Amino acid sequence: MKISILGATGSIGMQTLDVVRTCLPHAKIAALSGFSNIEKLSPLVEEFKPNMVWVPDDASASVIAGLTRNHPEILTGEDGLISIAAESDAEILVNALVGRAGLAPTLAAINAGKNIALANKETLVTAGELVMRLAREKKIKITPIDSEHSAIWQCLNGGTISEVEKIILTASGGPFLGWTRDKISAAKASDALKHPNWSMGAKITIDSATLMNKGLELIEAMWLFNQPMQSIEILVHPQSIIHSMVQFIDGSVMAQAGLPDMRLPILYALSAPSRIKTDFPRVNFLEKNNITFETPVIENFPCLSLAQHAAKIGGTLPAVMNYLNEWAVGQFLQDKIGFYQISDIISDAFGIYNVKPVISLNDITEAEDWAVNFIGGKKWQQ
Ligand code: NDP
Ligand code: MG
Repeated sequence: MKISILGATGSIGMQTLDVVRTCLPHAKIAALSGFSNIEKLSPLVEEFKPNMVWVPDDASASVIAGLTRNHPEILTGEDGLISIAAESDAEILVNALVGRAGLAPTLAAINAGKNIALANKETLVTAGELVMRLAREKKIKITPIDSEHSAIWQCLNGGTISEVEKIILTASGGPFLGWTRDKISAAKASDALKHPNWSMGAKITIDSATLMNKGLELIEAMWLFNQPMQSIEILVHPQSIIHSMVQFIDGSVMAQAGLPDMRLPILYALSAPSRIKTDFPRVNFLEKNNITFETPVIENFPCLSLAQHAAKIGGTLPAVMNYLNEWAVGQFLQDKIGFYQISDIISDAFGIYNVKPVISLNDITEAEDWAVNFIGGKKWQQ
């Protein structure tokens, strides 16, 4: 198996390489990309010897070119990232990029006939209709890395899509579970970055704190499993042992369980339908014997209801939401805006944006341009 990994220096990227190292000894790495962490990328290039490497600019390219032992083809710039997704000799692309940067490479890889192991949920939130249509046309498999979607996918071995009554998408509740709205409103990025169960990149960790992550996952699940929004229930399950469930029309429920360890869904996305033996830690149900479920406190997490609204309306609205969320999370991470300004910005935009159907990529580009102008026209300082 030949694999290319976009976002190799990130949380999912590094764990994917760990999976390759420990569980897939015959896999070859065809291409790797980094972004700001070039010092993290260099040893990976030395270890895995990809034929192609992507870095953002010439300065980073010269660092990689200076590595003595390997001479990979080095690409730069946005076009380079698209080229590497399409032109490496990998059969499968692991998309572990964060944010909207993931969309264009995914489309390019599908067009080039590569299967996709998808961590980058923003791809499906922004352009799920286009991505899934293209994948069907090109007979491409998109296998989910997101733990909830991997769980749903595994539970679907217990029945067919037409026998699904509902999907139960579980959420940890994030670091602010049980906090009052007043306390949450004073939270800084450093508070929001303390996720109780998962160690992840900064953007998704903030999305988990606002519960936007669950909203993005709702839209991701709708596209991956061809389900209407009403068939997907969101339940908070603070222990993160049940990664999601599927209830079938006979009333039977399949649940997928495991420790919160992203290497499991990453490995399954690469090995399915086979299972590969690992020595990863196992769940001890006698220790994890307090498994609970509750409904999300929607008043404290307005990003979730905004995402549910975007999921219901569809068209270009999720792309606008995704763009504004990504921008606002970036501002929050720098302590430039407050926690609830993330949802305020999106809510204000929803109040004036005219949603359009998504016919082509151009509709997404126009929607994101609208979001850029919207941000430019406002003062969003605390
Ligand atoms: P990280 O921030 O840890 O990693 C992101 C990767 O993308 C890094 O390699 C980074 O490079 C690179 N990158 C960032 N911006 C750009 C850009 N503009 N162009 C090209 N490359 C870029 O994120 P995660 O690994 O946490 O998340 C990746 C995706 O997986 C997200 O969509 C997230 O929602 C999803 N996901 C993550 C989970 C997790 O456990 N982490 C769980 C489920 C889903 P560098 O580091 O060199 O700057
Ligand atoms: Mg998830």
